[in-house]
Amino acid sequence: MNHPITAMQPPRELASLSCVVPCYNEARNLEQLLPLLRAKLASLAPRWEIVLVDDGSTDATAERMREWTREPGVRAVILSRNFGKEAALSAGLEAAAGDAVVMMDSDMQHPPALLDTFVRHWRAGADVVYAVREHREAESAFKRVGTDWFYGLINGGERFRLPPGAGDFRLMDRKVVQALLALPERNRFMKGLYAWVGFDAVAVPYLPDERAHGTSHFSKRRLIRFGIDGLTAFSVWPLRAVIGLGFVLALAAFGYGAYLTLEYFLHGHNVSGWTTIVVSLMLFVGIQLVSLGVVAEYVGRIYEEVKCRPLYLVKRELGRGLRDEA
Ligand code: UDP
Ligand code: MG
Repeated sequence: MNHPITAMQPPRELASLSCVVPCYNEARNLEQLLPLLRAKLASLAPRWEIVLVDDGSTDATAERMREWTREPGVRAVILSRNFGKEAALSAGLEAAAGDAVVMMDSDMQHPPALLDTFVRHWRAGADVVYAVREHREAESAFKRVGTDWFYGLINGGERFRLPPGAGDFRLMDRKVVQALLALPERNRFMKGLYAWVGFDAVAVPYLPDERAHGTSHFSKRRLIRFGIDGLTAFSVWPLRAVIGLGFVLALAAFGYGAYLTLEYFLHGHNVSGWTTIVVSLMLFVGIQLVSLGVVAEYVGRIYEEVKCRPLYLVKRELGRGLRDEA
């Protein structure tokens, strides 16, 4: 994934830069982030914009955004309710107009200082520059082990790889943004979509900061849900595993049946073992239900896709960005 970008061509000029920031109940964090971000963007490109996306916040986030959009270069897309971070990012990407687009969290975990490095790599020819978390000690054991498992499972046998530790903190060239926006699916598992579209990518290691205010919105339950979304969206091996399991069990049952028949003819032993029957019955019913559940997960995804509902709905747009300037 990590291609060395040789500086054969002269460095590209960055004419305009957008920064997309999804926000869900982040009023206090925005106050801290926006002054820093604005100064940083102004130092990087002659034309820039901050695209704030309010993902149905219930605190003063929308109010803070309204105040900030009076400033030049700051605009806000207010969604009609909470659609989730992936949908909020899609809304931001759709609205962004820059030649390159940066996405970052609003909770101060993604240091704006890293944008210098992002833009430097873009100038040298990279189409995607993504930040990779360096130290994960701060995260809970559940999240660490779960993440390792997840990447092990999802990266098994695919043509493209999801780099572990990479998240949504990244810079993308306009052509990559267009490629992402052109993908029609409803299930926006962004980490997978980034990998799927490809292009020349450069990884930049970084240390995530502590969340400034509030707590993470991703509970254990939501993370598991998110993992299943990703797995089902980017691989069909669980379906194949079910077929494999079926074959193995059928073979074992056939073998055992043959053994019992032989036993009967050779030693005249008759059927016995109530316990064996009950235990194996429960085991196989359990396996069948799990298998059915795996298939149902995929059927559910198909149902979501065929409904073709929009990814998000916009309630209001505020402020002027690059698009209105031109
Ligand atoms: N977020 C969002 N919609 C949601 C949940 C989160 O837009 O439904 C935003 C949130 O405001 C933040 C970013 O996504 O800017 C990352 O969320 P969080 O910090 O809770 O996640 P973590 O850092 O724990 O992965
Ligand atoms: Mg966070």
